[in-house]
Amino acid sequence: MRKFNFCAGPAALPEAVLLQAQQELLDWGGRGCSVMEVSHRSPEFVEVAERAEQDLRDLLSIPHSYRVLFLQGGATGQFSAVPWNLFGAGDGREKRVADYIHTGQWADKAIREARRYGQVNVVASSEDRNFTYAPAADSWQQSKDAAYFHYTPNETIGGVEFDYVPEVSCPLVADMSSNILSQPIPVEKFGMIYAGAQKNIGPSGIAVAIVRDDLLDRAMDGIPRSLSWKVAADAGSMDNTPPTFAWYLSGLVFQWLKEQGGVEAMAKLAGRKSALLYDFIDRSGFYSSPVEKGSRSRMNVPFVLADERLDKEFLQQAEEMGLLNLKGHRSVGGMRASLYNAVPLQAVEALVAFMADFEQRHG
Ligand code: PMP
Repeated sequence: MRKFNFCAGPAALPEAVLLQAQQELLDWGGRGCSVMEVSHRSPEFVEVAERAEQDLRDLLSIPHSYRVLFLQGGATGQFSAVPWNLFGAGDGREKRVADYIHTGQWADKAIREARRYGQVNVVASSEDRNFTYAPAADSWQQSKDAAYFHYTPNETIGGVEFDYVPEVSCPLVADMSSNILSQPIPVEKFGMIYAGAQKNIGPSGIAVAIVRDDLLDRAMDGIPRSLSWKVAADAGSMDNTPPTFAWYLSGLVFQWLKEQGGVEAMAKLAGRKSALLYDFIDRSGFYSSPVEKGSRSRMNVPFVLADERLDKEFLQQAEEMGLLNLKGHRSVGGMRASLYNAVPLQAVEALVAFMADFEQRHG
């Protein structure tokens, strides 16, 4: 019996996708072997790769002037790849300055990595209120000559999500690891978007990058080959052996998303699921959300109990009810329910029913 899984990542995958992968595991399309056991350069795998790319393009309406890359090294690899690929000469003048918004632990990791290669200006930070909100656009001052502007639209640990896209005067770079494919996005406003797969895309081991064509020629000299977007783009993301199974499975998720009605349907569903949980938390006198209204993530919902001595019991009983992985990140404690695309509305209904019952017994 499959249980309701609220893990922040690697996260729940659609059951239909897992069933299809299971069905095809030993004998993929009558070939007598699995997708993991063929060359990445074989026509049958290239077809899988191309279909996945096209489906992702369709889902996010990615313009032709952008390249879609399937990469290794996770989103963390892109923390390094972003400065390596954008701090170079490009339009003739090397710019080793970048603007970053600091909204929590993932933004912080991106900032620390970029600082190894150039100057980072933190143009806005929510540290003053313990990273519980997304800074408003009018609160920052952009650098005059930044190579790019980086932000984290959804902080997975803090549960803070931007409800707007920053308007900036240089290429906008976004770490969409934990909210990609959860809503339509205006791709043309971005220079580059990246996301580790293991939340809304597929299994871990692969990351997606969407890069505007004109940004492929701005790498610093000496960029490691495996970090170069240009090398990846020129090689169809097959400069070396890609994680073929993760790519295949991500492709199945994209097909599933299309069948569900695409990102518009996901946005509606995410709105319903998260509202159900936040409304319940706000009405209760027993649970509370540390995140300010207006910045609350639709994907990751952190909450605390009135008495943290009850945490252990809460988690244990939740698990007995088939509600898995509700423990908050080790750095912040409390609880966190991640509500990615593959988490059905029924899961949130079951969670709220359990929380209400627990409150009644302990509140
Ligand atoms: N950025 C964000 C917003 C994340 O949530 C995560 C992973 N939880 C990462 C980056 C790091 O991803 P990876 O483990 O794929 O390097």
